[in-house]
Amino acid sequence: MREAVQDPISARLYEKPQTPGINLHFEELVNASPVAIYTCDAQGYITYYNPAAVNLWGRAPKLGEDLWCGSWKIYHTDGKPMPLNECPMARTLKEGRSFEAAEITIERPDHTFRNLLVFPRPVFDEKNVIIGAHNTLVDITDQKYGEEKQAILSAIVESSDDAIISKSLDGIITSWNAGAEKIFGYTENEIIGKHISTLIPLSLRDEEDLIIGNIRAGKKVDHFQTVRVHRSGREIQISLTVSPVKNSYGKIIGASKIARDISESLAAEKKIRQSAERLQILNNIGKVISEKLDVQSILQHVTDATTRITGAAFGAFFYNTIDERDESYTLFTLSGASREAFEKFGMPRNTAVFESTFSGRSVVRVADIRLDPRYGHNSPNHGMPEGRLPVVSYLAVPVISSSGTVIGGLFFGHPDAGVFTEEHEDLVSSISSQAAIALDNSKLFEDVKALSAKKDEFIALASHELKTPLTSIKGYLQVLQRTERDQLGKTFISKTLNQIEKLNDLVTDLLDVSRIEAGKLALEKVMFNLDELILEVVENLSYTHESHRIIFDRGNPVMIYADRQRIEQVLINLLTNAVKYSPQANQVWVYLKSSEKDVTVKIKDQGIGLTNEQQKHIFTRFYRAEGTSNIAGLGLGLYLTKEIVERHQGCIGVKSEADKGAEFYFTIPLN
Ligand code: ADP
Repeated sequence: MREAVQDPISARLYEKPQTPGINLHFEELVNASPVAIYTCDAQGYITYYNPAAVNLWGRAPKLGEDLWCGSWKIYHTDGKPMPLNECPMARTLKEGRSFEAAEITIERPDHTFRNLLVFPRPVFDEKNVIIGAHNTLVDITDQKYGEEKQAILSAIVESSDDAIISKSLDGIITSWNAGAEKIFGYTENEIIGKHISTLIPLSLRDEEDLIIGNIRAGKKVDHFQTVRVHRSGREIQISLTVSPVKNSYGKIIGASKIARDISESLAAEKKIRQSAERLQILNNIGKVISEKLDVQSILQHVTDATTRITGAAFGAFFYNTIDERDESYTLFTLSGASREAFEKFGMPRNTAVFESTFSGRSVVRVADIRLDPRYGHNSPNHGMPEGRLPVVSYLAVPVISSSGTVIGGLFFGHPDAGVFTEEHEDLVSSISSQAAIALDNSKLFEDVKALSAKKDEFIALASHELKTPLTSIKGYLQVLQRTERDQLGKTFISKTLNQIEKLNDLVTDLLDVSRIEAGKLALEKVMFNLDELILEVVENLSYTHESHRIIFDRGNPVMIYADRQRIEQVLINLLTNAVKYSPQANQVWVYLKSSEKDVTVKIKDQGIGLTNEQQKHIFTRFYRAEGTSNIAGLGLGLYLTKEIVERHQGCIGVKSEADKGAEFYFTIPLN
């Protein structure tokens, strides 16, 4: 470094100023400077550089060897490489002129880049001959980066769809981007300098104090959903994020606001919610009406749900029935208005408006029924009677059965105009077709019920009418049997009596069935010994059913409180079945088992048995398993048996497999 100081340029550089009183050591000053400085001789050889220059270059050039610049590589600002002999210092020496703030980029040996402003200046001797030059290098990399960042940020702000606004702490708008213009409708020129409350609806002005309060406290307001006003006065749903803006000393000087227009997404959300709600309602209605078979609840559900969906003030279902005077339809269900209120005003009559619905022609949807050409033609009112439920918006959907008959109509009304939309029309139409199917089913069900009631009535009548002549025939035959002398005649009478007995049993069963259906099967309970009753039945049947041996496993004597005759009927039914349905076998077993709680009787045979499927049906009326048509029976015995057992709070069941015999059992509680 000593040598460098002796160099004429450096020596000149460090020449002490001649000002008296100031005694600065220039070499020290230049060495301590944070700004990079170096010198070259007239040939361009570097003769001096300070530590800041080494720091900037990332290397230390060799004095007297390296030419023009200590940088490892030099570039123009556009990134093109700059030959060393064209660098500003080289040009200063060659052209003998200064460069003011020439901008270059240098690359350091570690491949990092710096942006520099260079200030090379020629140094002349007394004769004005160039003896070298000095250069000052100012590192502007950080500043440049800051500028770039600023430019990027501005571009982002400008291109954002969100409104990005800044305001002072007293609410004056200080910046306004294109997004803000799009959302709020004001241009930058119009709004800058105005108060932020320009954008806030009157009713929400307090919000601003709250937001500013937060900002002053250094708090951010995040995703705050609120309403702001467009230049046109239209309200906009927005989501607002407000953050404090601080100056370089950290003092809060204002706020930045980002506002996003969420009107559309809120509307979309609302639509989705509505659709989900409607689907749910549709689903519920579908479920309810497919489960229900009674007309009243089907139609009430349908009327309530459709009134809710359409947002109607009230809704009603009217049956398509007109009275003798061809006047009114019948109100069946109502939603949203009281029946009294409705009935007071009279039923819809056979007018032009209603006729389109009840003729099933089409849906009628009118924004304002008072303006409809079909409206107001009927005297005496010529329109809505005074005081009637106020209807302006009107929707009517016919309910048409699969046969094409118009069952009735769903009617909706609202006091405001234009309430019902096409979507409402579609929804109600689809519900109405579902309802029509349910109503058809319900009608079928009602028809079947009516038929079944007729059949029960017939059975009751027929069995009663049969019983009387049978009893007489039986009486006469018994008298004849006693008086008949002829052996053959005796045999015939006995056989006839047997058949009469069978016929009598069948008729008795039929009578019992009709009693059960009418809820008139009375029990006469007494205490009796069950094992004795079984023994008695087994003995009697052994006479009449000689083909089989009935083996009774008696167990302990057991007293039960029950209807003796009905329990006897149960035993006879099960035992005769066991014999009847085991034609190939010759034995039947009866077991009696009792516990403290109950008593169980099992009747087992080795007959044709029952499949699982058959077992599911054998206790229903008139059911007979397939393949048993050659065995006499009506399919009523087990139905009656089950009914009797259950009337004693007992239960009955069967265990069986096809061709493996059957075991019927019933249990009756002792208490
Ligand atoms: P019915 O014997 O008059 O036909 P039931 O009500 O007593 O009427 O019996 C209903 C049906 O159950 C019978 O038709 C028969 O198919 C079946 N069934 C009843 N008992 C037996 C049994 N022990 N083994 C096989 N099938 C039986």
